[in-house]
Amino acid sequence: MDFELPEELKLLKNTVRTFVDRELIPVEMTSMDGPSMRPEIRAALERKAKEIGLWLLDVPTEYGGQGLGLLGMAVVWEELSRSIALPPRGPGVFGPEVRPILFTLNAAQKEKYLYPVLRGEKFAAFAQSEPDAGSDPGSMRTTAVRNGDHYIINGYKRWITKADAADFLQLVAATDRSKGSRGGLSMFLVDTDTPGVKIVRRTPTMMSDMPCEIALDDVKVPVENLIGKEGEGMRQAQSWITAGRLYQACRGLGVAKRCLDLATSYAKQRVTFGAPLADRQAVQFMLANSYTEHYMTQLLVYQLAARTDAGVAARHESYMAKIVGTELGFRVADRCLQIHGGMGLAAEMPIAHMWKDARSFMITEGPVEVMRMVLAREILRGHV
Ligand SMILES: Cc1cc2nc3c(=O)[nH]c(=O)nc-3n(C[C@H](O)[C@H](O)[C@H](O)COP(=O)(O)OP(=O)(O)OC[C@H]3O[C@@H](n4cnc5c(N)ncnc54)[C@H](O)[C@@H]3O)c2cc1C
Repeated sequence: MDFELPEELKLLKNTVRTFVDRELIPVEMTSMDGPSMRPEIRAALERKAKEIGLWLLDVPTEYGGQGLGLLGMAVVWEELSRSIALPPRGPGVFGPEVRPILFTLNAAQKEKYLYPVLRGEKFAAFAQSEPDAGSDPGSMRTTAVRNGDHYIINGYKRWITKADAADFLQLVAATDRSKGSRGGLSMFLVDTDTPGVKIVRRTPTMMSDMPCEIALDDVKVPVENLIGKEGEGMRQAQSWITAGRLYQACRGLGVAKRCLDLATSYAKQRVTFGAPLADRQAVQFMLANSYTEHYMTQLLVYQLAARTDAGVAARHESYMAKIVGTELGFRVADRCLQIHGGMGLAAEMPIAHMWKDARSFMITEGPVEVMRMVLAREILRGHV
């Protein structure tokens, strides 16, 4: 059994780490303007990333990308998450954000949606959550009713990241409410300029995110904008969920690593009662625990990624990784904040920002309690 990263991924990790240290960390306190990155900073970072080959990393090679697997993406996400220069919920600076479902579109859909996204001409938001359907999409109320050659969509979406900047939505709606998430949900491509689509408000959060509420009022969508078949919506959303959970776990790993580094260096320099904080056992234990928990979590995360790349189902590992990865990020950020005292709370330091972002990852894309619930179900059924 080999716990070492392959040489090429060690090299990639090192390249991304250097990019983060040299390009992201120096601009991280000024890179954001509300929920978005300042365009001039984004353009400069993207130019630099392209120059050094950090571009379209996870896009399959047949679409002009580098076809990196999940283990490769794990090390990239982990390193990128050491800085708060980027928006907490994408897009990053290594190419346009392309959700994997877009690669499954039919030829005509790809022409209209996938290729423009890959060229950076169009941007998509993912619209599933609703006021009464967050963790539990099966209770969704937005409906899509077939009427000849089109569907009529009515409903309300909440928490949709960057919907106000999106050209189209990958929207989940109920085509058969009686079936709930077991075959009752379908996914559609909905242009945001379609009559009846209205961004009602943006919700400020404690992070820089400002997700949108969207009213859908008799929105007429052609049948050719259905992705796959009716009833496949949940399965399609689930198809990238392992990667989504892995991503969240990597975010936690990155935050934890940066916070451990910050806390270590501050503990060595800050003197109280005549001695550096680093001499106090209370502080040493926080550092030792953080290092140990980071180490254990990284092993689980890399194993999840490697198994998924090898085609082995790793659902249980994905629940565990989401739980321990996101909780690690918040716990270590919290310790780092405590070690910094008042400076930990200062808005001019990155710590409180990371603390808030890390806290949010324990809720979005499936709260940790829901991960525990589904894992426990599998344990009780004897499936693990
Ligand atoms: C900043 C931000 C960005 C987002 N972006 C998007 C987006 O782009 N697209 C999108 O579709 N959605 C998005 N979401 C929605 C996000 O995925 C949901 O907030 C999340 O799934 C939780 O749903 P909820 O908020 O309705 O919480 P609920 O489902 O109401 O749950 C509330 C709490 O109850 C607990 N809980 C729930 N169920 C159980 C259970 N079975 N057992 C024990 N405890 C339970 C958990 O602690 C949970 O945190 C975003 C949310 C935020 C905050």
